Order: sequence, then structure tokens, then C-alpha cells
Amino acid sequence: MTEAVQTTLTSNLYDQQVKKLYRVGEILGLPQDVLETLSQPERVIQVKIEIKGKDGKVKTFIGWRSQHNSALGPYKGGIRYHPNVTQDEVIALSMMMTWKNSLLLLPYGGGKGGIRVDPSKLSLEELEMLSRRYIDTLYKYIGSDIDIPAPDVNTNPQTMAWFIDEYIKITGKADYATFTGKPVELGGLETRNYSTGLGVATVAKEAASKFIGGIEGARVIIQGFGNVGSFTAKFLQDMGAKIIGVSDSKGGVIDPNGIDINKMIETKEKTGSVINYPTGKKVTNDELLTSECDILIPAALENVIHKFNADKVKAKMIVEGANGPLTADADLVMKNRGIPVVPDILANAGGVVGSYVEWANNKMGEIMEEEEAKRLIISRMEKAFNSVYEMHKKLGDQDLRMAAMALAVERVVNAMKVRGMI
Ligand code: GLU
Repeated sequence: MTEAVQTTLTSNLYDQQVKKLYRVGEILGLPQDVLETLSQPERVIQVKIEIKGKDGKVKTFIGWRSQHNSALGPYKGGIRYHPNVTQDEVIALSMMMTWKNSLLLLPYGGGKGGIRVDPSKLSLEELEMLSRRYIDTLYKYIGSDIDIPAPDVNTNPQTMAWFIDEYIKITGKADYATFTGKPVELGGLETRNYSTGLGVATVAKEAASKFIGGIEGARVIIQGFGNVGSFTAKFLQDMGAKIIGVSDSKGGVIDPNGIDINKMIETKEKTGSVINYPTGKKVTNDELLTSECDILIPAALENVIHKFNADKVKAKMIVEGANGPLTADADLVMKNRGIPVVPDILANAGGVVGSYVEWANNKMGEIMEEEEAKRLIISRMEKAFNSVYEMHKKLGDQDLRMAAMALAVERVVNAMKVRGMI
């Protein structure tokens, strides 16, 4: 045991991540100075983005890119557009990317970006302008061997297309591997859109067979029906699970008889929300999280399960589709209650594995067939799950998050040591 005390505290998600890091530091016996350096990003860039509105007025936005750790390779991680994005949140998410990339044995460090914006309030032209201006301010700090952004909350292949187009125009370098999650026409993978969902479903299946007697017939609730939630639902339904509840930012639906995911996707596309699904009971997001089910998959935003609702969760198992949906306090509650939590850095890593395939393809001028990329994502996720499960058994009294983080943090620390960074 070390005498490590947590000294670096700021706001919420960052606070949660540092707590989780200090917990694993104790397990690994890491000294205070190492934990302190791991708590801080190597660099954070804040940018101001100005776009001219149709009314001639300037709209000003703040954005960030946090580059947390580069011991294992260039920084890698998504860029999110959300009205609540803060610098601390982006730093925390970049730290999680360091662990995620390490756990999946990818040749990357961790990075993350964000713009504080409500994209639903911008026209398509304004969104394009915003995306291009973001790259104008950041292009010096990114590149296929420096920092490789990708989609995250509210960004998608179209955003990546604007990014790469702007990047090539400014730098004169057709370095397509600078961004991943691009449209297929620009060197993207067929699988990238559903890579994260495929990964979440794959580890949910593995975990279900270890902890709750299998995925077949398991009743699943998914909070969030964006890219991650909707594809996770679809893959789990194909695996024989029964999706009984889903939600989006407008609310949720529970139907114990099962929800037809194709019909739900159609409902969301046509009406803008899952709440317009014809059958089932309408619920709030909070009610959805504490409803009866076998597997709960929070796949929206962070900190949704915390010390005030953690003991009300009725699921037998939780799989973190989102980044950081359980606070450090909620982790302890689940551990005490014997409810396994498959942690974000493992559960949602399918996206970045897909990104890795795309990046490697772009570097070599190749394109992997959809089926092959799919197989690769599945096998990497299964392997990562098994290594975490083995570590969990080896550590005895530690939850799956601590097992995953022990593997991930140790690899980063070893790389830092051999490089002479610590
Ligand atoms: N935004 C995704 C994540 O949080 C993907 C990152 C990437 O592909 O670089 O893992």
C-alpha cells in the first residue's frame, strides 16, 4: 500500500477519474509522484471559434483538445459537440482514452476534444463552418503521428469529412490517417459507424455468460439511443437478448414484452425521439435507470449513476456503453451489492479498435473488407474481456474496473519508465 493521497481535485468527471486512478494506484503500489503526473494532461489547447451567422452577427464558441499521455504513441480520441462540455471534462475523457488504448494494446496515447455548443441550434452550414474553424485553430497540434481525432458525442463521419478536407487544404498534406471515423469515400471503414455498438454487445455477451447465465433471453435496458445505444441494441437483439427499455434525451420507453429495435430506429428517425414508440410505458431517464432488468447499459453521458441512485439500480449487471456513466461512489455501491460493472475503457473500446484498423489501412494505402474488420473488432474485444476477467480473478477482491485499469495503467507506467519519463 502506498501513502498516495489525492491532491489534484477540480470538477466532476475529472474528480471521478482521479479517484479511480488513485484507487488503482493503491492496488499497483504506485507512488504519489507517479499518480500525480498521471493525473495531469501533457497539453491542453483551448481555442476560440468564431463563425458569422446569417444575421451578420458573430457567434463565439470555446473548444479544447486535451492530450493526456503519449507514452504509448500518438494521442488518440474523439471530439464531442455538447453544450455542457468543459475543459475538465475533456481532460478527464482524454485520461480515459489513455487507459482504453493501453488496455486494447493499441499503439496510441490518449486525447480528447470538445466544443461547447448545442449543435441542434446550428444550421448545417453553421456546423460545417464551426468544424472547419476548429481545425484551422488546431491543425498544428494534430496529425497521423501526433494526435488523431475521431467522432464522439454529436459528431459523425460528416464532421470528420469536413475536418480532413479543411486539414488537407491548410497543410497541403493528404494525410488521411489524421482522422478516423471518416466516410467510406475518404478512406473510412464500413464498420466504423457500428464498431462501438458491436464491441459493447460483444463484451456484454461475454460478461453475461460469466455472471448471469448467458445473453439468450436476458432482459436489457439501454439508456441513450445515439450511435452507441442504437447499434448495441441491434447487435444484442441479434444475439437473442430481449431489449425491454430504451431512452434518449427526451425520455424513455419500457416494454416488458420486448422492443423491436428496427421499429424503434425507424420511430426515432421519423419522429425524432424513442418516446413516440407505439407500445410500452413512458418513463423518465431516471426511472429507466432504476427499472427491473438483467443488464443495464448506460450509453449516453457521464455521471448518470451516482451515490443517490446507485442502490436503487435493479439490474444484475451493468455494461458502460458511455464514458464515465458511474461515479467512483457508484462503483463502491455496485461492488458491495455484488453487481458486476463492465467498465467503459473495456466496454466501449470497439470504436477505437475500428479507428485503429482505419488508421493502419490509411497509412498503408489499404482497405480492409467489412467482414474482416468486424471479425478483428470482435476478437480484440473478446481478448480484452478475457484478460480483464483473468485479472479480476487474480486480484480477488477487486471489481472489473480496477482489473481493467490495473492492466492499462501498468502498461502506460512501464512505457513511461523505459522511455525515462518517470
Ligand atoms: N470517441 C470514441 C471513444 O470514446 C472513439 C475514439 C476514437 O476512435 O479515437 O472511444
